[in-house]
Amino acid sequence: MAHEKKGEISVTRISTAVLNIASVAMAMGEFREAVTIAFHGVRGSTPCSCPELQRYGGNTACVTIEAHGQDPIILDLGTGLRMWGVTLGRPEPLTVHALVTHLHWDHVQGLPFFKPLQCETTTLNVFGPGECGESLGECFQRFMTPPFFPIQPKDLPATIEFHDVLCSDFSIGDASVMARPVPHSGPTVGYRVTYGDLTVAYVPDHQQPVDMSTVAESVLELCDGVDMLIHDAQLRADEFPDKSDWGHCTPAYAVEVARQSGAKSLVMFHHDPSHDDVELDRMAADTRELADVVGIPIVAAAEGLKLVLGADL
Ligand SMILES: [Zn+2]
Ligand SMILES: [Zn+2]
Repeated sequence: MAHEKKGEISVTRISTAVLNIASVAMAMGEFREAVTIAFHGVRGSTPCSCPELQRYGGNTACVTIEAHGQDPIILDLGTGLRMWGVTLGRPEPLTVHALVTHLHWDHVQGLPFFKPLQCETTTLNVFGPGECGESLGECFQRFMTPPFFPIQPKDLPATIEFHDVLCSDFSIGDASVMARPVPHSGPTVGYRVTYGDLTVAYVPDHQQPVDMSTVAESVLELCDGVDMLIHDAQLRADEFPDKSDWGHCTPAYAVEVARQSGAKSLVMFHHDPSHDDVELDRMAADTRELADVVGIPIVAAAEGLKLVLGADL
């Protein structure tokens, strides 16, 4: 894993996981259009930058799902969103849809720095839960306002529409989207996105219960039999006792969620800012041992990583 440049699309380091994911997908049926999942920010809590974190990256939660002929779907609007916006480089009209899990900084801070929002032919639909009796749009208005930020969403040239979801099923183009509550800190949802019979679940912040064998019904519904589960894996087991009510979980619990829900692969996500590249390598290796026992391929998310579902690799 040591010979890649930051931002480079990696295949070698995830070849085993990718091949396993692809073979699962291909074994399930005839040819299916590929769905590409790209990771632009994989860090939890706060953006962080230093050489020791460079390989996995320091931007916060932002993942895109792209299928041929469909508008891109963004999972969370963390600081990784800025990087994706820079790489788009397309001045033509753009419509994108963001599925926001909750309103903590690490999931929303990238919005004002998303370059396409400087263009009036861009439309961004933002889905997510409101909080404190306010709608999602009112919450964004509140965090993007002076003195905390110089401009409000309505000041950007693009069209931004906010849609409240908590326990909802809806469509975005050909994608079926399910939002369900997830135990965390404050109103939080996870998402299940389905194109045909290819399905991804996204649960980036998940409070581990006292009893590790318990998984909320809503989470099991989100993750049921998915091809890929992107899941919180922030805390080492030895860190968890001191942070047991911080809203997060251990990689072992992520494996347990994957096992109970029948997920076909697991992506470790929402890395702790205090975990450097060496530490994350170690956590991924330890988690792989656990996951091997139950036959689930795993990979630790890194900035620049792209995973393809349904492709003949
Ligand atoms: Zn978070
Ligand atoms: Zn959070």
